[in-house]
Amino acid sequence: MRTFRRALVERNVKREPVIIRASSFGSLFDCPARWQAIYREGRRMPTSGNATLGRAVHKGTALFDGEKLAGQVPSLSAATDAAHEAVRNPGEEVDWNGEEPERFASIAESLTGRYCTLFAPTTDYAGVEVGVESLELTDLAIILSGTADRVRRTEAGLGIADLKTGKTAVTTEGKAKTQGHAAQVGVYELVAEAGMGVRMDAPAQIIGLQTNVTPDKQRIGTGEIHGAKDVLIGTDDQVGLLNTAAKLAHGDIVFGNPKSMMCHERYCPAFKTCFFRR
Ligand code: SF4
Repeated sequence: MRTFRRALVERNVKREPVIIRASSFGSLFDCPARWQAIYREGRRMPTSGNATLGRAVHKGTALFDGEKLAGQVPSLSAATDAAHEAVRNPGEEVDWNGEEPERFASIAESLTGRYCTLFAPTTDYAGVEVGVESLELTDLAIILSGTADRVRRTEAGLGIADLKTGKTAVTTEGKAKTQGHAAQVGVYELVAEAGMGVRMDAPAQIIGLQTNVTPDKQRIGTGEIHGAKDVLIGTDDQVGLLNTAAKLAHGDIVFGNPKSMMCHERYCPAFKTCFFRR
């Protein structure tokens, strides 16, 4: 923690802390103006079918792994049913973009089944969905919140594992794509450490789950990220991203990114009035 504090830029930040959800960390850096519109002004957009599919797979697999961690015989059918149901009844508005929800439900069910039968037997978890409601970093006047999908046991100690779904989540060589995930995964390491009260010394693991329609092509692969926390909190030689994140979240730095993949009226609530999209 001393290293962490030393790495932070000293700032007089006697102001209301801003909450940054771990899952929103990437979008904060992708387009800060869009992040402000969604997370500070509360201007929500309907979620997408792919995001709903991802949440459904998270739900089904967490149910399975949670039962296993509790010493029960995990139920495959309960896990796949939960994934299917999470798509059919997402509990929020979804823009299916003209596609049938059943198509997403079918992929969620099938991919959850493949995870439970092919991947879960290879795991050794110490925690499922571990985190904290709020981890306040008073120096920066920000609060991190969120949960790590899994905490795994390895020879190097405990480490977090993060499930990523997507059409390109796994390469043709069977490896999970890890590039660009370090900052977000670093947040998960911090909240998992706060939640469990122990250090995450092992490299973070990305578990990629490919959301292909064809079950044979629903590949599952892994990849590791070393030093994810360093990217966030910095080192003796390099200031970490949390300093910039605090400035962006507080609106000390404001800019929009019209080149963002999310710069579209379907995804951005500020699209029609955006100053930066000229
Ligand atoms: S319209 Fe584009 S540039 Fe403007 S806030 Fe939205 S994503 Fe960012």
